[in-house]
Amino acid sequence: MEFELWWLLILPLLFALGWFAARADLRQQSTEARRLPDAYFRGLNYLLNEESDRAIDAFVDVVRLDPEAAELHFALGNLFRRRGETDRAIRVHEHLAGRMDLAEKVRDQAQYELGQDYLKAGLLDRAEQVFTRLASTGLATRAAFCRLEIAQTERDWARAVVLGHEWLAIPIERLEIAEREQRQVVTQRIVHFYCEQGTPAALLAAAAMPEGEHHPRVLQLTAELARQRGDLAAALAAWMVLGKAAPIYIAPVAQQVLDDWRNAGRLEEGVHWLEDCHQREPSSDFVQAIARSKLALDGLSSAQAWATQELTERPSLQGLESLLALREGALPIEHSVDAESASSALSEPLIRQLMRPQLQRVARYRCLQCGFEGRQFHWHCPGCQRWASCSPRRIEEIQG
Ligand SMILES: [Zn+2]
Repeated sequence: MEFELWWLLILPLLFALGWFAARADLRQQSTEARRLPDAYFRGLNYLLNEESDRAIDAFVDVVRLDPEAAELHFALGNLFRRRGETDRAIRVHEHLAGRMDLAEKVRDQAQYELGQDYLKAGLLDRAEQVFTRLASTGLATRAAFCRLEIAQTERDWARAVVLGHEWLAIPIERLEIAEREQRQVVTQRIVHFYCEQGTPAALLAAAAMPEGEHHPRVLQLTAELARQRGDLAAALAAWMVLGKAAPIYIAPVAQQVLDDWRNAGRLEEGVHWLEDCHQREPSSDFVQAIARSKLALDGLSSAQAWATQELTERPSLQGLESLLALREGALPIEHSVDAESASSALSEPLIRQLMRPQLQRVARYRCLQCGFEGRQFHWHCPGCQRWASCSPRRIEEIQG
């Protein structure tokens, strides 16, 4: 009987203790909750008033009170970086990286963001130091990729090759899913890094890369180096492989390619071969180069008939320009225009002159990623720094 009475006393006591404990916890939480919003709202207020430095101080207080609020700091730092206020982004991330009371993972993340800030600010040597320090952390693979980007920005192609191979050597299970998809991109980049060096040894290494042997740029460089050493047979062999693999990449250098055929004493064969490339991947650059060679081989009427036929099949401003240039180049102006009506006639030179501004606009090459336009074909886009993002077709042909 006495045993049951003890139970009756203990139960209310436990209930009372639980109630007091809950009250104490609530009081503490409400005290912190009162302190936190003050700092948050102060920081927000400063941000809204564009007093960024005071906002940083206020948000530093938030992290001091609540280390879990580090995410707020990262968001703030990244906001500053995106707005181009890199000095403020650096201050925020330096503060986080130096907080020894924060978890190591958070400090590593802060170091990584700091590296991104330095990159954005153009302080490449500092960014390199930060990413090198992260080599033994959980962010090692991302940091290694950033070092690769830095070598590329500095156009240090030999170092970029080494870093590229190091990145490819990272076991695939250590890569994040997005990084795994980049393996192909990095492989392609290494081919370009070798090609940028432009030496026979680098070219051999590029060809040895996966997919390097039939890479358009490797084949183009092979032909050019062969031409430089006077081995036109080797140059033509490389052009023919490229013509089979990706004929459109011959378009930007079509005239040089036909020059190689002519210098080898095989121009007629070369014209037939280029016509075949043009049938598979039509381009006005092919039309221009073929028309010129036909003029030399078969005379004006034959070249003109061929160019007219091409223009009828694939009308384009560049095709028309090629036809007019052909006529103008082959016939002296005084013979092509009636001398009496020369001043009022819409002569071919005048048409070409009128066409020129529009032609210059559509005869450019465009990056399909960032829209950069240039008169030269670029393997490495000067706008977005991507590789092989510029179309070997002229703008007019992309739009058409
Ligand atoms: Zn671009």
